[in-house]
Amino acid sequence: MIPKQIVIVGGGTAGWMAATLMANRWSKHGASITLVESSKIGTIGVGEGSTPFLRQFFQTLNISEKQWMAKCDATYKCGIAFPNWCNTNEAESYFHPFYGEIDSPLVKDFFNNCQYRREGFDIPTLPDDYFINAYLAQQNKSPKTTNLQYQGIDYGYHFDADKLGSFLASHAKKLGVKQIQDQVVDIKTNTLGIESIITQQKGEISGDLFVDCSGLKGILIQQTLKEELIDYQKYIPNNRAVAIGTNHKEPSKFGTYTLSKGLKNGWMWSIPLSSRIGNGYVYSSKYMSSEDAEKELREQLNEYDAPARHIKWSPGRISQHWKQNCLALGLSQGFLEPLEAPMLNLVQQTCESFIEFCEKPHDLVNNQQKFNQVINRLIDGTRDYLQAHYLLNSRSDSQYWIDNRNNTDMSSTLMAIVSGWKSQGSFDTALATISDNLVYGKTSWYCILSGMNYYHTPTKGSLRLAVKKHHNAKLRCQHIAVNFPIQVASKQN
Ligand SMILES: Cc1cc2nc3c(=O)[nH]c(=O)nc-3n(C[C@H](O)[C@H](O)[C@H](O)COP(=O)(O)OP(=O)(O)OC[C@H]3O[C@@H](n4cnc5c(N)ncnc54)[C@H](O)[C@@H]3O)c2cc1C
Repeated sequence: MIPKQIVIVGGGTAGWMAATLMANRWSKHGASITLVESSKIGTIGVGEGSTPFLRQFFQTLNISEKQWMAKCDATYKCGIAFPNWCNTNEAESYFHPFYGEIDSPLVKDFFNNCQYRREGFDIPTLPDDYFINAYLAQQNKSPKTTNLQYQGIDYGYHFDADKLGSFLASHAKKLGVKQIQDQVVDIKTNTLGIESIITQQKGEISGDLFVDCSGLKGILIQQTLKEELIDYQKYIPNNRAVAIGTNHKEPSKFGTYTLSKGLKNGWMWSIPLSSRIGNGYVYSSKYMSSEDAEKELREQLNEYDAPARHIKWSPGRISQHWKQNCLALGLSQGFLEPLEAPMLNLVQQTCESFIEFCEKPHDLVNNQQKFNQVINRLIDGTRDYLQAHYLLNSRSDSQYWIDNRNNTDMSSTLMAIVSGWKSQGSFDTALATISDNLVYGKTSWYCILSGMNYYHTPTKGSLRLAVKKHHNAKLRCQHIAVNFPIQVASKQN
C-alpha cells in the first residue's frame, strides 16, 4: 500500500536519496513527503565514492551527468586500486575494475588463466591486465568517449557528499518535498509503531510512514523501536576513521580511480574530486589510538596543517529494516565500513526495494518479512566480500594483519568461496552452490582472489596458449584505451 504522509528524519545523503526516489514515484499518487533535518547535528559528511549503481539512481530520476556532476565536484571512477594489502612493497597492487560488456571477450581468458594458475601452472593472472578500466585508470583516463564503438563500459563516481546532499535537496523540493530545519526532541509511539515526532520549534509532526535517516544513532528504529545492532566486528575489524582533505598537486588533472592502500593497522582511501582529494585512514581501535592513526595518515599525505575529522562506529546491521510503520535507511540500518564504497548502493537498493514491496498487494507482515530478508542478504553478502580483503592478506608487519588473516569467524558462504578457490576443482561450480548468497558477482570474486595472489606456489611451468592469451588481452586493452580522453577539470565541469 502506498503511504500517504511520509515523514523522513534526516537530511544526509540517505534522507535526500529517499526523498527524491519516493517523490519521483509516489507524488503522482498523492503522497506528501516532509523531511526534517537539524543543521545543529549535521551530517556525517563523508561517503565520496560510489559503485556503478549510482548511474541508475540518476537515470531513474532523469537527471543527466551534466546537471549534477559539476555541482557536486564529481569525477568518474573506473574502479579501485589496492596496493599494500599483500605486501608493504608499493609495487604490489591489484585493481578491482568496474567491468562491462566491453570486457566480455577477454574475461573468459582471465577466468581460464586463473583456473590454470589454480592447477599449479605459472601463468600471469593479475586482473589489471585483462580489463579496460584498469588501463584507463593507470592513465587518468575518463571511462567515457565520444567514439561510438566503445560505449559499453561501466563506471561509478567520486563526489563531494555535502554537495550531493544539497543537489538532491533542491531536486526533491522541486518534486514537492517539504523541508523542515528543526531538531527532533521526542518521539511518540502507538501500536502501529511511530505515531509522531516532536520537533523543537514546529511541534508535533504525524505521518503514516516514518523513514529513519538520522544516521548512526537511528533515533527512530534503534532508540525508539528498540531494533538492536548485530555486532559484525568479529568479521570486519575496523571501527574508526580519520579523514583529511588535501589539494590536488595538478589541479587541472585528476585520477579516475579510488586508491585503497593498506597501512599498518588498516587502510587509507584517496578519492580525487574535481576540487580536492578526500583522504582517510580506516582502522581498528583495538590495534591503534586515534592519535597514532592521524599521525600515520599525515605522514602518508605529507600534510600537517589541514584539519582532521575523527569518526567512530560499530560495524553491524539491524535485522528489521522495515519495522511496523518505520523504514530505516542509511547509517541507521547499521554500517559496515567504507571499503569498496558499497553503502550508498545499499541505501538505493533498500529504498527501491521498499517502494516495490509497498506496491505489491497489501500483506504487511509477509511483505515486511520478505523485504527484511532481501536487505539482510544484501548486507551480509557485502560483508563477506569486504571480509575477504582482510582474510586474504599476506602481510606480517603488524598483529592487525596477522590476526585478520587467521580469523576463523566467517560465514559458510565465505568459507565455501575461499576453500573452493584453493581446491583444484571448478571454482564456478563452487560459486554456483552458494549463488543465492552472492552479492558481488563472479568477476569480482576472481579479481580479489587472483589480485591478492591467493594461490599455492606454482609447481608447473607456464602454458604457451595461456601466456599468449594474456599477451593478447594486454594488447587489446592498450589498443582500446587509446580511444578514451584524459579526465580534466574543464571537460568535467
Ligand atoms: C568514514 C566513512 C567513509 C564513508 N565512505 C563512503 C563511501 O565512499 N561511499 C559510500 O557509499 N558510503 C560511504 N560511507 C557511508 C556514507 O557516508 C553514508 O552511508 C551516507 O552518507 C548516508 O548517511 P546518512 O544520511 O544515513 O547519515 P548522516 O549523513 O549522518 O545524516 C544524518 C541526518 O540526520 C539528521 N538528524 C540526526 N538526529 C536528528 C534529530 N534529532 N533531529 C533532526 N535531525 C536529525 C542530521 O541532521 C542529518 O541530516 C562512509 C561512511 C564513513 C563513516
